[in-house]
Amino acid sequence: MTPAELSADGALVLFSGGQDSTACLAWALDRYDRVETVGFDYGQRHIVEMDARQAVRAAMIDRFPAWAGRLGEDHVLDIRGFGAVAQSALTADREIEMTARGLPSTFVPGRNLVFLTYAAALADRRGLAALVGGMCETDFSGYPDCRRDTLDALQTALNLGMDRTFRIETPLMWLTKAQTWALARRLGGETLVDITIADTHTCYRGDRGELQPWGHGCGDCPACDLRAAGYAEWDAAGRPDLAA
Ligand code: ZN
Repeated sequence: MTPAELSADGALVLFSGGQDSTACLAWALDRYDRVETVGFDYGQRHIVEMDARQAVRAAMIDRFPAWAGRLGEDHVLDIRGFGAVAQSALTADREIEMTARGLPSTFVPGRNLVFLTYAAALADRRGLAALVGGMCETDFSGYPDCRRDTLDALQTALNLGMDRTFRIETPLMWLTKAQTWALARRLGGETLVDITIADTHTCYRGDRGELQPWGHGCGDCPACDLRAAGYAEWDAAGRPDLAA
């Protein structure tokens, strides 16, 4: 049965198993009584992302008893049809490069619009009011569907089109990569930092590689570069907690 009203204390986190969505998951677990996760199978080259999702969820349950009772179901939605239409370096064997329109080849047109529309349809059925995603304008200037303006417009469209009162929450929107580490530390201390390093996966190449101070990855793709640089900046600053 579809609930008549969305539960204001319920959240659905768009969860890829990466550093950013892990910080979002912790942010949601800190705030909401009922938290579920959703991932998308759009034909990623890397099954390693799907493994990271389960490892992070298991670690959260194991190491944060207060969060274990709040963390509910995980959902994986098959959107491979979309992946086939919107081929990019993330879904096909193409090099990561800048394209003629000034966007990286990792840009998947409309991806966040599709993710959030599917997430809203699922949240409608699950009765969850908050849709939480790791979109960020600060470090990803190339991605137009990460902009808060885009998400405000989409939130309006979803609420009109589904006759609901969803809120698209983007806790990382104005944070730097260094501040995302600081947010993790504020929410879950060095324990959450350890989980982020050991279990999350961000590398575009799907390479777990050797364990670096900032985690696993190839160490020279754009995603690894950002993650490593953010970690180094945060560590050099004395591993602060993000100010509340
Ligand atoms: Zn990499």
